[in-house]
Amino acid sequence: MAFLDHVLQPPAYGWQDTQGELVRPNVRTILKEFFGRLNVWRDRKNWLAFVSWVKVFCLIPFFLLFVFQFFSWWTLLAAFVYGMIIMGTHGTVWHHRYCTHGAYRFSNGFWRFVTRQLTLNIIPEEIYVISHHVHHAKSDQPGDPYNAEGGFWYCFLADVNHQPIAKDLSEDDYKRVTRLMAHTGVKGNTYRQYQHWGSFARPLATIATWVLNWAFWYAIFYLAGGHALACSLFAAAGVWAVGVRTFNYDGHGHGKDIQREGIDYNRADRSVNQLWPGLVAGEWHNNHHLYPKSARSGFKFYQLDMAWIYIRLLHRVGAVSHYRDDKQNFINKYLTP
Ligand SMILES: [Zn+2]
Ligand SMILES: [Zn+2]
Repeated sequence: MAFLDHVLQPPAYGWQDTQGELVRPNVRTILKEFFGRLNVWRDRKNWLAFVSWVKVFCLIPFFLLFVFQFFSWWTLLAAFVYGMIIMGTHGTVWHHRYCTHGAYRFSNGFWRFVTRQLTLNIIPEEIYVISHHVHHAKSDQPGDPYNAEGGFWYCFLADVNHQPIAKDLSEDDYKRVTRLMAHTGVKGNTYRQYQHWGSFARPLATIATWVLNWAFWYAIFYLAGGHALACSLFAAAGVWAVGVRTFNYDGHGHGKDIQREGIDYNRADRSVNQLWPGLVAGEWHNNHHLYPKSARSGFKFYQLDMAWIYIRLLHRVGAVSHYRDDKQNFINKYLTP
């Protein structure tokens, strides 16, 4: 069996039935799986997904303070810019284009560190990266961890139900996981430690990184605009952390064929270019499925790509040594008569 067929922990309901058709669990089944796989008392190997949702819950008090205590036009504007544009673009720059696709390389570990820590630490790299390789290998097929045909909840809770790595990988397969994560700079478990924790990420390092990252950013935001700004931006990060989970369902047309002539050139899967995720985060998802290793996904004049602007900027100042840009390939293949 190929590595990407079994690197993820399959849900109890399985990826496909005996006919090879996608299993579409109902919401009840999905929720049962979700809470079962968050239960760290039943299995400590669930810890990473658990910590990831604890972070989201920790942001709720900030959200309440933002709404009931600090709400004003300027905090709303700050929250919008931070939660939509900065968090969104950072997800594209870091988790998506760098950690998963290796679309560009940093000149040194310092700039990689800076880029990693540039926003509030929320999504664990390992959960995003490994499953996203599977998503590209099996887009809209059974086994795709956020197969839009599975429905909204299938995608929304995928980070717990479908994206964590399997807990019973062989030593060779775990080495392959390690290789997929090596360039991210996230220090990983040895195979022995993996057998104990069920993850690549190390619990202590993961929690320390989270706490230090949040403390640093709270202090910076507080110095810039007091508790009002700090709470508003933390609230915005929480809204982003929930909202981003809807992207995979939307980005693949809710499981329906809604690709448009002259906009979506890749017809191998159901990915679509959508204006909003494109403009705020550079996620021109149909373009991205055409050229996944490109550090730029906005190819047409109106396809603003702020993640690309950031990568170019780092290249200008020498922080990025190399990047791949497929814009010309796209133009030659799809726009030149
Ligand atoms: Zn996709
Ligand atoms: Zn991708």
